[in-house]
Amino acid sequence: MPNPSLLILPGDGIGPEVMAEVRKIIDWFGAKRGLVFDVSEDLVGGAAYDAHGTPLHDDTMARAQEVDAVLLGAVGGPKYDTLDFSLKPERGLLRLRKEMDLFANLRPAQCFDSLADFSSLKREVVAGLDIMIVRELTSGVYFGEPRGIHTEGNERVGINTQRYTESDIARVARSAFELARRRGNKVCSMEKANVMESGILWREVVQEVHDREYPDVELSHMYADAGAMQLTRWPKQFDVIVTDNLFGDLLSDLAAMLTGSLGMLPSASLGAPMANGRPKAMYEPVHGSAPDIAGQGKANPIACILSFSMALRYSFDQGAEADRLDAAVQKVLSDGLRTADLMGPDGGVPVSTGAMGDAIVAALDASLA
Ligand code: NAD
Repeated sequence: MPNPSLLILPGDGIGPEVMAEVRKIIDWFGAKRGLVFDVSEDLVGGAAYDAHGTPLHDDTMARAQEVDAVLLGAVGGPKYDTLDFSLKPERGLLRLRKEMDLFANLRPAQCFDSLADFSSLKREVVAGLDIMIVRELTSGVYFGEPRGIHTEGNERVGINTQRYTESDIARVARSAFELARRRGNKVCSMEKANVMESGILWREVVQEVHDREYPDVELSHMYADAGAMQLTRWPKQFDVIVTDNLFGDLLSDLAAMLTGSLGMLPSASLGAPMANGRPKAMYEPVHGSAPDIAGQGKANPIACILSFSMALRYSFDQGAEADRLDAAVQKVLSDGLRTADLMGPDGGVPVSTGAMGDAIVAALDASLA
């Protein structure tokens, strides 16, 4: 069997800095766990524009289609703000998502005990929280036709259309059920079936996919507005939440922020299974290129490291090794190590980007003792 393949696209700003720490972790798994990846690295965003005059070279796009998973840092920066829309660094990222047809966006909300006081909610509500929002990413009201602004009589009308086909719903439902089987085996589907026909269809199709293919997974349905309330009241009742593009946009931001800093938030975008059974996949931190702190050793690498942990779990079937990495992150945080974004009321030991990566590698070593 060939080694699993990873394409690394560090990008711009703090992207290369946080990715350098992920490389240490990848090397550790190769050396200490025999988990060797065939790693290649390429340019995306402003870095690709500087080298090739385009935010994503065709060769890079082709490579992304071939590998088992793509790991991306971040793109963008003030230097590129005046570029034509089609050349902006973000277009490189959007092209990857579109051409790989990454229709399921996974945003975990996981609260490490040692950071529970960073949340705006009470410690007991968020400590130990570990939920996953699966947002449909390529259909729904952001893409439906007709759309636009036109004039009717003497006033303007703005129109967007929520449109979902059965297959759009079924494939993201499958992603959610598959994930649930690797986690707490529970899915809650959220829509507005009380007021939207697309919501009625959503509920029916999710139920059908469940009954036919995943009867072993516990399924519940909730209206998305009630879901937002429940997420802030008692988020630990959930395991996997699956929802449409618009509600997912809102609910995933809400859920992620239950847990504190942007520097801690990973994400994954998954597409259809490839010939080897693995889903097309891209893993990336939620944060951007943070030009205000780039090049200063201040960036928190944990969001990017946890994105690699998601790759271990969801692309490479290495759940136990992903648990090991998550535990190593938990350990350094409990030891009080803090990059600048995590310095809070509890004080802590200030560390640089590189020192945080080294400490996580040391915690991985300690996990073998
Ligand atoms: P940002 O996420 O880059 O930064 C927001 C704030 O959070 C900044 O104060 C930054 O210093 C801080 N921050 C972000 N990540 C951090 C980390 N890992 N450690 C410590 N602090 C961190 O968002 P922004 O400032 O709105 O955007 C900056 C650039 O990034 C823009 O060009 C934007 O288009 C781009 N962007 C890219 C992505 C992506 O690549 N996926 C996402 C969002 C924004």
